[in-house]
Amino acid sequence: MRTHTVEDLTVTLEKEGADRYIKISYPLRYGVYSEVRTPDDTFQFNLNGEIKTIQGHGRGWLDASEWLKRTVGNDWIYFSAGGYTGAYDFIGEYYVPCLSYDTNAVLFSDRFNSSDVAEAFNAWHQLRDRLARLDLSALDPKLAEFFGRVIEMGPAQLENRARQFHDIIGGEVSVLPPDTRHVEYDVIPVIVADGCLYNCGFCRVKSGNKFTLRPAENIIDQIQALNEFYGRDLKNYNSIFLGQHDALFAGKDVLAFAARKAYEGLAIEQSKMKEPRLFLFGSVDSILQSEEGVFDMLNRLPFYTYINIGLESADADTFRFIEKPLTPKKVKKAFTRMMAVNQTYSNIEITANFIYGADLPEPHLPSIIDLTRNNLDHFHSKGTIYISPLENIGSKEKMRQEFTEFKKLCRLPCYIYLIQRL
Ligand code: SF4
Repeated sequence: MRTHTVEDLTVTLEKEGADRYIKISYPLRYGVYSEVRTPDDTFQFNLNGEIKTIQGHGRGWLDASEWLKRTVGNDWIYFSAGGYTGAYDFIGEYYVPCLSYDTNAVLFSDRFNSSDVAEAFNAWHQLRDRLARLDLSALDPKLAEFFGRVIEMGPAQLENRARQFHDIIGGEVSVLPPDTRHVEYDVIPVIVADGCLYNCGFCRVKSGNKFTLRPAENIIDQIQALNEFYGRDLKNYNSIFLGQHDALFAGKDVLAFAARKAYEGLAIEQSKMKEPRLFLFGSVDSILQSEEGVFDMLNRLPFYTYINIGLESADADTFRFIEKPLTPKKVKKAFTRMMAVNQTYSNIEITANFIYGADLPEPHLPSIIDLTRNNLDHFHSKGTIYISPLENIGSKEKMRQEFTEFKKLCRLPCYIYLIQRL
């Protein structure tokens, strides 16, 4: 790490942040990054020179403990600390990651329309313009090289990079599992299968295609291309998302192949970030059809694995209403299996989602309380339940009250699912 002063800029190259993800009530940066501080703002860049975070200080915009973060898909997320008390109780994190989705508006207002955020982006553009006017040949070569990368990675180039990223994996990741919050959504996606089993009527993230496995060569090609794409910044990643909507249905051999190839091909062992994680989605049918050998294999991988299952409800009327071909009996069996896997395997946590909406049939909420309370004789710390808000949640206040009530009754950790894409 080396600090340089250029005019009123303080520049720190290859600064070391935390080497594992932790839940903490002040802003913490992870991995290795370079930083430029101006009197008003702090800009952090990844090792490719791409803007990573912007945080303000002393000018009134952006609370000093809040920040903007750019994803590899070129979305900006506003990490909000305030505006609503009890963020941790609601989402399990000290900061609410605000991506501009309507269904995420349960806990926060849209920060992206604020003049503070517009000023933050302007400040970044002004910084790049300023760096472009410097005589780089007069600077320390490492500093000049870093400035060169920052100048090159302007908005058009970042858009191109996001397109290239989506081309590699064959399209956008329309939704990440809620458990990826544990690594601040910093996952490398490797797609093992497209489509899903049910193509439910209510779902807004589905592709509409039937479940189709990717060939092994495609998985290998993705991993090789992702290695090149992330380049210098690869060492800041320790987590893989095996996509898309039901990787568990891909079965033991495909999952073992993809996870092991990703671990090697994306140099997870050499990552600056410790405690590698693997994330995937499953479904009621995939968990019920999975042989025990699948979980046995996952448990022995060099990752801690999170599998998120969309249970949605435990009420037959609700399944008809949302056009999902499931029954309460099947959901109960899937829930029982989820709890058994969680108790058997120390390196796996299966979590589940249930929907929340103002228009859902009345028995919906009582059905999920019954499932997650009366089927368990005590509180379990593994098996987080996520409540996923639909488009129409009705009154936000009522939703918060009902969520709080549910959380008290549920015998599992319980949080709201804030959708993030990549
Ligand atoms: S909820 Fe899951 S299974 Fe249903 S359509 Fe959406 S992605 Fe597919």
